[in-house]
Amino acid sequence: MTSNEQLFQRAQGVIPGGVNSPVRAFRAVGGTPRFIQRAQGAYMWDAEGTKFIDYIGSWGPMILGHGHPAVLDAVHQAAADGFSFGAPTEREVQLAEAIIALVPSVEQVRLVSSGTEAGMSAIRLARGATGRSKIVKFEGCYHGHADALLVKAGSGLATFGHPTSAGVPPEVVQHTLVLEYNNIEQLEDCFKAQGDEIACVMIEPICGNMNFVRASVPFMTRLRELCTQHGAMLAFDEVMTGFRVALGGAQSVYAKLIPGFEPDMSVFGKVIGGGMPLAAFGSSRKVMSQLAPLGPVYQAGTLSGNPVATACGLATLKEISKPGFYDALAARTQSLVAGLTKVANDAGVPFVGDSEGGMFGFFFASELPQNYNVVMATDKERFNRFFHGMLNRGVYLAPALYEAGFVSAAHSEADIAATVAAAAEALRD
Ligand SMILES: *Cc1c(COP(=O)(O)O)cnc(C)c1O
Repeated sequence: MTSNEQLFQRAQGVIPGGVNSPVRAFRAVGGTPRFIQRAQGAYMWDAEGTKFIDYIGSWGPMILGHGHPAVLDAVHQAAADGFSFGAPTEREVQLAEAIIALVPSVEQVRLVSSGTEAGMSAIRLARGATGRSKIVKFEGCYHGHADALLVKAGSGLATFGHPTSAGVPPEVVQHTLVLEYNNIEQLEDCFKAQGDEIACVMIEPICGNMNFVRASVPFMTRLRELCTQHGAMLAFDEVMTGFRVALGGAQSVYAKLIPGFEPDMSVFGKVIGGGMPLAAFGSSRKVMSQLAPLGPVYQAGTLSGNPVATACGLATLKEISKPGFYDALAARTQSLVAGLTKVANDAGVPFVGDSEGGMFGFFFASELPQNYNVVMATDKERFNRFFHGMLNRGVYLAPALYEAGFVSAAHSEADIAATVAAAAEALRD
């Protein structure tokens, strides 16, 4: 048997940092990443044969748990018929129809292969459709690693942002404005100063890349008003929340709180691929008609709408569309958060948690943070100790305090109880 440590050593020889996506390297929490060998239902096993209850679910996609039989069947069948054609297929049409049926704000979609690609393309489309250059994002929201989006707030309001990555020239982010999440005053000032130059505002409506932070209803209401008033497109990045917090995504959650609420553009990924490389962006027919081959905004992809990925996505959507699916998922997730909160209280540890559908977050703090700076000021040392305490007890949480967690339909009440019992021990330590 090869140990995780041996694999990590080998990996570091041939892959930068030993991983193909940075957070997998456990840099935030320290220690050796677990090399996963297989997964089934709510569980994963690493190279050493250790079993974990999985609360990452591939960072969101595995909403049915791993290896759901109906999804496996669909993938096997599709694979036998051919991996990729570079020509249109009926399944792409079916998946587009399924997405549109579930998300009323979307009249047309284009399928791509990653959330990054979808977010990047959505921004190009918003710029092309409005003829404007500026985009607004919020500190702590992640929209993939397109150059223009790797940016953090500069000093002072509405200055240019600064690149967060080497290799991104400052000129490339000069049209990206970065504001504080949930800060209405900053938003108003920004629109007052340059609202008529803004092509789009991109937001994670329930932000899972700063753990779990909801856009407040007054903030979202004002954002919608300002975008409408100034002709800027409101783009919901639902790569994480889409088909995860509710069947209609976070926009359906806000539509219940704000009458008539709809974004102008939506970006999906993660759950719609069911674990395969698949993502999408969509908008009104009018806006989408700006895309090539109909319009002047170029966008393309060799593997876009891949037949095996669309089969996986369609089979996943079919399962999650069954009546009662989200009620059960939400109840399970709530019972996890309630259980964790109780054992933390019992241990006298400051702890707050929140969830929507099958997505949750928790903080070692006394109240739920409303923006990135407050999230990053929560107790990181305690989080890291808790993470390892849980991992050692067979519970795999996201290895960084700024990441959300995910419950799948395969998690049983017994899995939740085992997790809460592990947490009680970990917190006592
Ligand atoms: C994961 C994620 C992305 C990027 O998707 P990839 O498939 O990793 O490129 C974009 N936006 C949000 C909100 C995400 O959670």
